Amino acid sequence: MQQFQQYIGGTFSDGSARFESRDPATGQVWAMMPEARAKDVEHAVAAARAAFHVAEWSGMTASGRGKLLIRLADLIAENAQTLAQLETRDTGKIIRETSAQIAYVADYYRYYAGLADKIEGAHLPIDKPDMEVWLRREPIGVVAAIVPWNSQLFLSAVKIGPALAAGCTVVLKASEDGPAPMLEFARIFDQAGFPAGVLNVITGFGATCGAVLTSHPQVDHVAFTGGPETARQVVRNSAENLASTSLELGGKSPFIVFEDADIESAVNAQVSGIFAASGQSCVAGSRLIISNTIKDAFLARLKEKAEAIVIGLPDDMATEVGPLCTTGQRDNAVKLIEKSVAAGARIITGGRALDREGIFFPPTIIDCSDAPNAPCLTNEFFGPVLSVLGFDTEQEALDIANDTAFGLASGVFTRDLARAHRMIRGIRAGIVWVNTYRAVSPIVPFGGHGLSGHGREGGLRAALDYTKTKAVWLRTSDDPIPDPFIMR
Ligand code: NAD
Repeated sequence: MQQFQQYIGGTFSDGSARFESRDPATGQVWAMMPEARAKDVEHAVAAARAAFHVAEWSGMTASGRGKLLIRLADLIAENAQTLAQLETRDTGKIIRETSAQIAYVADYYRYYAGLADKIEGAHLPIDKPDMEVWLRREPIGVVAAIVPWNSQLFLSAVKIGPALAAGCTVVLKASEDGPAPMLEFARIFDQAGFPAGVLNVITGFGATCGAVLTSHPQVDHVAFTGGPETARQVVRNSAENLASTSLELGGKSPFIVFEDADIESAVNAQVSGIFAASGQSCVAGSRLIISNTIKDAFLARLKEKAEAIVIGLPDDMATEVGPLCTTGQRDNAVKLIEKSVAAGARIITGGRALDREGIFFPPTIIDCSDAPNAPCLTNEFFGPVLSVLGFDTEQEALDIANDTAFGLASGVFTRDLARAHRMIRGIRAGIVWVNTYRAVSPIVPFGGHGLSGHGREGGLRAALDYTKTKAVWLRTSDDPIPDPFIMR
């Protein structure tokens, strides 16, 4: 049985307790994980606070921080295969995806490395003749970064990268589901040459670890990715310390196809949009909104493609859909589908958990034309389940797309340029993909509205979000200060 350790203050240790991690493909326990409880959280925050002030880090030049991040990126690239295999083993995410994604994670760190020495202050054209005023940009302090189990290396990179570029220190709480890749990442990070305590990696459960971390008085900012219900708790807890928050939450993203679209391309993008990552993706295009003029033909082609998907073990390169990460997700899918069918929705393909070892759920398509209030249209599955509604007019398509409390991503397929622009303007979401879907890059800000959260990760501003400004006033006159009772 493999054993993993937490990483605090540059040292590896076992944690207050240990818990079992199960392989989602077999349901068998394969590793023991360190469980951080209050004492470990305390220790990790203290290490991050100490490292924030130590001259070795606080006095390091911005380009010095950039160089360390480049070294980290190189180490990630060198160890990409090990990281991918561990993520696949512990979360069930297929090896095809983890291999490609982790190679790209190195590029994310390279991008943030480049930002480190582009964090600039400003000189202000002050309205007083004998003053110089400028703004310094200083690191925000200790960051608590919390990630869900899916794509942890990627979701932590968009927090750790800009936070370290800005000169912050970080306590990263990996998910209790599938933490192995993050704990291995800590080993790799340890070789990059950062001062001890700049990054601390722990894992544990929501109530006994996450809540303690987010309410800790020495935490200045909480960068959270996860579900909306947990985000509410995070916001309540961070109110203890009035720490700032950025929230990257779930979605129920619309995928709109007009009759003039390149149909084959749209079908392929929809397959990727909902069935990639076995549907366990925050940007999953989980609501197909399709012109009624092409609905039947489109669904027939989509069904054909969905049924041809190779379901298999996640470590097999041929597998296209693997297991779900947790039994809770499968049970949630079963329940939501049952309720939707009871409300009049019709299953086109899939719909039942597979009767085999592991947590397997097949690609599923549900036509909700006769069930516009079916719960599958409003609830996030975090599984390979697509709900479908038809539309007659462009306005109707837009109304359906915006009929959601979420607002993360969206897709529009049309060859009509003017219509594409009208949809781009009208859709309420943080991302609009036109004639494509699921493209990401460190260069592009990522985030949503409403129940999808607030704040943006990635892009040029990413490192600025981990800074605060300090306004500096310097009087240039040698004359005595005239009247001490007048503010000037
Ligand atoms: P989750 O909200 O259950 O857990 C996320 C993390 O929060 C875990 O590390 C968990 O231990 C921790 N946590 C739980 N309770 C806590 C508390 N009280 N205080 C602090 N931390 C606590 O999410 P999940 O089920 O692991 O992941 C799926 C969700 O994440 C989906 O809703 C998905 O859409 C979302 N997600 C969003 C993005 C994005 O970038 N927008 C990316 C990936 C996943």
